[in-house]
Amino acid sequence: MSLYGYTFQYKGKKTTSFNPRGMPRFMSNCEYHVFRCSQINRTWKLSPTVPATSRRNHPKRERFDCKGFLNVYFPDAISLPENINADIVIKCEHIEHRGAKASGVPLAVREWIKLNSAKTHYETWDNLMSVIEGGSFPEIDKAYLSPAHVLHWFRKYQIQRHSCSSDPWVNLEAMLKENLKV
Ligand SMILES: [Zn+2]
Repeated sequence: MSLYGYTFQYKGKKTTSFNPRGMPRFMSNCEYHVFRCSQINRTWKLSPTVPATSRRNHPKRERFDCKGFLNVYFPDAISLPENINADIVIKCEHIEHRGAKASGVPLAVREWIKLNSAKTHYETWDNLMSVIEGGSFPEIDKAYLSPAHVLHWFRKYQIQRHSCSSDPWVNLEAMLKENLKV
């Protein structure tokens, strides 16, 4: 799974407790799937059994001990409050760090997103692609800018608009933000 240009690897299925910490009661005994930022694994890749001499010529990979995770919960529809209509709930904790494509969105493009955000991040990305094709950013290869990259910055700049979006994912996020316990 890729989000904001970071890759999250699937780590397995779990179930929340009866009284899950920092979560509303309707999230109790709820099945969820855990994804972790792939940067965590980088520290495990260097095998201690490989002698240092055979590693000498490999450039040391830049590592970041990221604790970032993304959990996808499947709350029981019956236990959900009436005002919440959701099939899944997502909890994501992640900070921006090097080694991911998200940090590679050029400043000029970020500025463009800030000033030209459309209704959805996808529409913004689509417009951005047209602008790049039109030659506005001759130094930028649009192949490296996915909708996920645009989403990252789009969210930063458009955080206030979410609650009236037609995108159910965005509404879900707004719901989560309003509920400070989530
Ligand atoms: Zn990370």
